[in-house]
Amino acid sequence: MNNLISLVDKLHLENHLEKKEYITLIKAFDNTQLREYLFTLSDKVRQENYGKDVYLRGLIEFTSYCKNDCYYCGLRCSNREAERYRLSKEDILLCCEEGYSLGFRTFVLQGGEDMHYTDEIICDIVRTIKEKFSQCAVTLSIGEKSKESYQRYFDAGADRYLLRHETADLSHYSKLHPANLSGQFRQECLFNLKEIGFQTGAGFMVGSPYQTVENLADDMLFLEKLKPEMVGIGPFIPHHATPFKQEKKGSVELTLFMLALVRLALPTCLLPATTALGTADSDGRQKGLKCGANVLMPNLSPVTVRKKYLLYDNKIALGDESAQCVEQVRRMVENAGYKAVISRGDHILHR
Ligand code: SAM
Ligand code: SF4
Repeated sequence: MNNLISLVDKLHLENHLEKKEYITLIKAFDNTQLREYLFTLSDKVRQENYGKDVYLRGLIEFTSYCKNDCYYCGLRCSNREAERYRLSKEDILLCCEEGYSLGFRTFVLQGGEDMHYTDEIICDIVRTIKEKFSQCAVTLSIGEKSKESYQRYFDAGADRYLLRHETADLSHYSKLHPANLSGQFRQECLFNLKEIGFQTGAGFMVGSPYQTVENLADDMLFLEKLKPEMVGIGPFIPHHATPFKQEKKGSVELTLFMLALVRLALPTCLLPATTALGTADSDGRQKGLKCGANVLMPNLSPVTVRKKYLLYDNKIALGDESAQCVEQVRRMVENAGYKAVISRGDHILHR
């Protein structure tokens, strides 16, 4: 036990562990004493950097079309059952208006890789949002693009970009994706985003098919190297119309453990308690906040499309209307002992 505690202390002090040390810790994730020690420390580190603040981001899932065929995702192009929709620029602006009046100062535009939205269209949408809501940050999460495209989005005013690396191990990556997608290109995209100046988000699913403890250790080392400003981590949850429909869902306990390790390795990162965590366990997001997470992303998409953006089965939808959804999220944050704040919620080094 002392050995495990001293590894947690080392990660806290040095923000780094060797691969074999990460493996030792991750293998012991269900040890109650270790978990208590780690979670107390990760909550403390998050409070030292961000106090009790929890940043709310308004998530706009603006397209369910995707040209890719990731084996785990309900939006994959081979899923003929998926209902597809696209929001127009006007629809997106309406979501932002509503979000702004509800107190959001960050809008996250997320979608499949949908070629309908050319760089021109994306830049026009970003520019218009930034003109109308000048105190707000815009985050994009629209997949792998060329460095030139990323630069154009940045020049149009986008502040942040979320692109989970999914798994740092290239051979594991190839078991989750068809051959036209490569883990190496995805990682290159992330380094390009950082270089351009985006607040960049990487991340991975916990319990994705074929994932090993070694893979998770490699994910930690990759995060140490990239130093992303944001890290999205959630359990894998199967979708009934994908090749992984029979696979087991990821463990909530292990997801919480990984969140806490990330908080110690990257003390200032912005760390969401994800929708997938809230889907796998009805208290998952509160638990996430208590072990180091400090971001929540309530859904601002129009009610008519919410049920069509199905990455996995039984995805939670809090409240029918955005206003209800925000109210529930605020209450959840307060009940967990934290404070939902109205601000852009930038990374400490980007203020
Ligand atoms: N298309 C963009 C991309 O892939 O980066 C953004 C949208 S994509 C749906 C956002 C994230 O959802 C992915 O990075 C993936 O980690 C997560 N996701 C997809 N399918 C999932 C599943 N079955 N369980 C949990 N998370 C999933
Ligand atoms: Fe498309 Fe993203 Fe889903 Fe892959 S994870 S199929 S890129 S929406």
